[in-house]
Amino acid sequence: MGGAVSGPGAVVDLVIHNGTIVTEAGAFRGAVAVDAGRIVSVGDDAVMPAARETLDAGGLHVLPGAIDVHVHFREPGYTHKEDWETGSAAAAMGGTTTVFEMPNTDPPTATPEALAQKHQAAEKSYVDFGLYGLLAEDNLHHLEALIAGGAAAFKCFMGNTFGNLPSPSTGAMLEGFEIIARHGLRISLHAETASIMAHRQARLVAAGRHDPLAHLAARPAVVAVEAVSRAAVLAEWTGARIHVLHISSGDELRPLRDAKQRGVDITGETCPHYLLFNEQAYRDFGSLIRVNPPVREQVHQNALWAGLADGTIDMIATDHAPHTAEEKLRNDIWQADCGFVGVETQMPIMLTQVAAGRLSITDYVRLTAGAPARAFGLYPRKGALVPGADADIAIVDLQREHTIRASELKSRGSITPFENFVTRGLPIHTLVRGAFVMRDRQLVTARRGHGRSVRRIQAMAPPAVRHADQTIAAQIAERP
Ligand SMILES: [Zn+2]
Repeated sequence: MGGAVSGPGAVVDLVIHNGTIVTEAGAFRGAVAVDAGRIVSVGDDAVMPAARETLDAGGLHVLPGAIDVHVHFREPGYTHKEDWETGSAAAAMGGTTTVFEMPNTDPPTATPEALAQKHQAAEKSYVDFGLYGLLAEDNLHHLEALIAGGAAAFKCFMGNTFGNLPSPSTGAMLEGFEIIARHGLRISLHAETASIMAHRQARLVAAGRHDPLAHLAARPAVVAVEAVSRAAVLAEWTGARIHVLHISSGDELRPLRDAKQRGVDITGETCPHYLLFNEQAYRDFGSLIRVNPPVREQVHQNALWAGLADGTIDMIATDHAPHTAEEKLRNDIWQADCGFVGVETQMPIMLTQVAAGRLSITDYVRLTAGAPARAFGLYPRKGALVPGADADIAIVDLQREHTIRASELKSRGSITPFENFVTRGLPIHTLVRGAFVMRDRQLVTARRGHGRSVRRIQAMAPPAVRHADQTIAAQIAERP
């Protein structure tokens, strides 16, 4: 049975009928037929093939599962905060069917051996995944082996955050971009300039500032403006593809927009906490709100919504970054760990914005599924409800009210500033390649380990290398 091409009259694995199918272009009443993990038909209920199983999606909306290109699952090294089982369970409960996981684990994913160790940890995953390799000062000689070993993208910490991985010099970044550009993989940037932040933090500490707002004072938006601009210059020069993670300020939209206009292959994401919190959060939540980059003033929040509306910001990710309550709630802001969970709460929080009229449901599908799939070489195999695509599906109830409670989230370190948020819109079922990983709001524990690396289906556009004759490798080869 499953695996055969479904011709007319064939019986397929599953038909989801009677729902509202949502694509980037629109929404319509209809059905989705699934066989052998792939979508085989989308359209009118009446023309669906016979199926071994049917799901009545009456009153529900059928969306492509979210693709979150920015999560930290903490394994290996920090499994008291999260591991691949708890993190991917949270994704499944949140309607997220693919995650890209960050390399600031212990060991960091900087060598092919560490990548192999990460792949082993990810064997527990409920959802599909891409693994980031690290681009650092001291691992340039490992980049090719990381690509050969299955890295789906790279992460470059221009500013330090949890894990304290030192940011590479601009010289090392340029050589890393030269190497990775030849393979076409995307380099995601923590775009905050470390030296500016280190200088300001030292000055603030010396002046006796240990309050929550001192964190914001140490990282003014210019740290992101400088970093995005500098990275865009290197990407433009080398032809490397880059992605700006966690855009937090209105100011950094200008270098992002400028780079796009110059033809740089650059994309950008923002996260729910930058769209929903402002400076008041430092008073409301204290050190719990500490995250890199920081939550900023209302004027930035307004600019981010405008950037989503005009397409400058391409996608929504979460920067899912779990820590224990004890690690988050410290009186000295400099001692509080940075970040908080997000992969399970993104969909209810953002669907609440859809309900409030701040975002259309079709835009939501583009920002959380289509755009990340295109940027990371997965489209249309993922990120779209079309025949031939993986059956990665979130079936949501747009009317369902829900209250976010950390105690009910699957993450280990689940403390969140969204505690007690009342949301409207909730994923009810999640399917990864045709298999339910969440059903009727229950995790399907038998699907632990169902997740697969996306690398085997990833197809980035051919690389567009520039100035190949001027790379350090070319210069060394030409030595007389
Ligand atoms: Zn992050």
